[in-house]
Amino acid sequence: MTERLYYADPYLTHFSATVLACRPERNGYHVLLDRSAFYPTSGGQPYDTGTLGGRQVLDVSVDKGGKIWHLVDGPLEPDSPVEGHVDWPRRFDHMQQHAGEHMLAGVIWHMLRGHTIGLHLGAEDSTIDVELPDGSMRVEEDVLLEIEERVNRQIQQDLPIRCWFPTPEELEAAPLRKRPAVSDHIRLIQVGDVECVACGGTHPSSSGQIGLLKILDARPSRGKMRVRFVCGMRAFRQFQKSHALLDQAARVLSTAMENLPGAVKALNDRLHEAERALRAQRLSLALQDAPALMENALTLAAGSRLIAHVAEGLDRDGLVELARYLTGQGFITLLANAKEEGAALLFSAPEGTPADMGRLLSACVKPLGGKGGGKPDFAQGAGPGEQVLKAAMAHLTA
Ligand SMILES: [Zn+2]
Repeated sequence: MTERLYYADPYLTHFSATVLACRPERNGYHVLLDRSAFYPTSGGQPYDTGTLGGRQVLDVSVDKGGKIWHLVDGPLEPDSPVEGHVDWPRRFDHMQQHAGEHMLAGVIWHMLRGHTIGLHLGAEDSTIDVELPDGSMRVEEDVLLEIEERVNRQIQQDLPIRCWFPTPEELEAAPLRKRPAVSDHIRLIQVGDVECVACGGTHPSSSGQIGLLKILDARPSRGKMRVRFVCGMRAFRQFQKSHALLDQAARVLSTAMENLPGAVKALNDRLHEAERALRAQRLSLALQDAPALMENALTLAAGSRLIAHVAEGLDRDGLVELARYLTGQGFITLLANAKEEGAALLFSAPEGTPADMGRLLSACVKPLGGKGGGKPDFAQGAGPGEQVLKAAMAHLTA
C-alpha cells in the first residue's frame, strides 16, 4: 500500500520518494512509489498531474491493494530516489470543487433530507445526484436559490475543515450525514458543524477557500435530481462570462442589463406582429392575382379548368387560403411558394374531379427528389416548385 501524503497535508506539492517498480505500458510507464502526494482518480475526484523525476505524470490510479500507480511518459530507475511535483492549480481547483460538493450535500441534507449519491467532478462543472425523500426529481426555483445562499453563507463563515482517521469511539459519535460505504480505514471530513461524512479526497483547510459556489441547474436524471454546480475560480469565471454576455446583449438592445428580459419580450412580440402582418399582406396580394389566374386558366379535355401558379413568398397557410378560394371557384389548383428546391407544394381539386391530387403530386414530386402526397382532392408536399408544377401540368394535359 502506497503511503498517501495528501491525507496529512493536501497542500504538499513537492515530495521525495523511492521508486519501487516501473512497468512499461502501451502509452507510457507505470511507476509505483513507497509514498506519494499524487491523488489517484477515486471518489469522483480526478487524478493529479505534475512531474515525477522530470517525467510528465499523465494519469494516476489506485489498484485494489491500495497501490498508487503513476503513468509517466518515460522510464524511472527502480530502487532510486525520485522527486515529485504536483500541479497545484489543478489540485487546488479539485479541492475547491470537492469541498464545495460537501457544503452543497450538507445543506441539501439539512434542508430537505435529500441523500447525495455520487459526485462527478468534470473538466467544466461538477454534478451530484440527489435522492429526495418524497421521490421527486425537482425542487422549486426558490428552494434552489435558498440552498445556494445557505452554502455561500457557510463558505463565507470560513468554517474549519478537518480530515482525519477516527478512533472507533470517534466514529461512533460522529454526526455522519450518511453511513460510510467502506468499513476499514474510514477517513472523515468535518466542515464546522454543517457537514460530516466519510471521504478520502483532498479538501482545503477552511471553507472560505472554496470562494464561491454557483448552482447551474437541477434536473431529473435516472430517477434522481442531478445538480450541476461550479466552485472557486470556475464560479468566478462563470460570473465574468455571464456578465459579459448580458452586457453585450444589453448594448445590442440599447437598454440596461436589468431591463433585458422585458426588452427581449417586447422585441419578440413586435417580431411576431410583423410576421403576422407580412403573412396577411402576402395573402391579400396573392388573392389580388386570383382574377388574372382564373382568366388565364387552362381548360382540360374533360372540361376541368386548371391553374398552376408559383405564389412567391406565401407560407403553407397562405397557400391553403389561396387554393381554397380558387378551388371554390371550380379550378384544379396546383401551387408552389417558390420556383426552386424546397418549395412548399399544394395541389387541390373541386369535388368530382377525375384526377387524384394525392397520386398526381406523389408521382410528380418523387422522381424530382421531393416528397408529398395526400387525398384525391387535397395534397401537400415539398420539392423543386417550378419543375413539379411543369410535370403535373404535363400529366394533366397529356
Ligand atoms: Zn470529500
